[in-house]
Amino acid sequence: MNGGLKLIKMNKAKNHDGLKLPVVEEFYSIQGEGFHTGKAAYFLRIGGCDVSCAWCDEKRAWNAGNFQMIDIEGVVERIAVVPAKAVVVTGGEPLLWNLDILCKKLKEKGIETFLETSGSEPLSGQWDWVCLSPKKNAPPLHEVLEHADELKVVIETITDFAWAEENAKEVPSHCKLWLQPEWSCSQKMMQPIVDYILQHPKWSISLQSHKYMRVP
Ligand code: SF4
Repeated sequence: MNGGLKLIKMNKAKNHDGLKLPVVEEFYSIQGEGFHTGKAAYFLRIGGCDVSCAWCDEKRAWNAGNFQMIDIEGVVERIAVVPAKAVVVTGGEPLLWNLDILCKKLKEKGIETFLETSGSEPLSGQWDWVCLSPKKNAPPLHEVLEHADELKVVIETITDFAWAEENAKEVPSHCKLWLQPEWSCSQKMMQPIVDYILQHPKWSISLQSHKYMRVP
């Protein structure tokens, strides 16, 4: 863990007040993955992550210290003016930060709040939808597993099916279950995933359709 990431942990431990967040980027686009695929939403990417997935496609977001701490009032105002009243809060690992006030202000504006998390940090914020994508490097906390509305497991190798089943045992019965090929090996893993789902139909396949659509 580098110095920047230690600082992130300290911020959390000191009860970060949630009034400012290290915003990597924010944009209005189409959700490409999981249950809400195809729907318009505002995306808010928050910096900081110490999970270290080798295939992470947002490594630039790992060090929160590289991003300016931005006042959430302005962020909420920008979200409120787009036609879709929904925001996807993603990262990095957004739960490194206290998201209570952000969500409170979003709810005051009637905006639906969707979280994308690895579940490695305690839950904060008020969420209409929690998408949990568990990572072996930093397994999800029980308190996040029990609030998951969808479980989205990235499949890089055959052994990841067992990891998916392990997590599926811990989520509520209403939780949607997805297997998603890791992008760089999607050609290789597509058939094994299809075969697995045919034998285990409680799972569905999630594709990173935004990459096919070439939208952010
Ligand atoms: S948890 Fe997400 S942001 Fe963090 S390293 Fe893994 S894929 Fe990247």
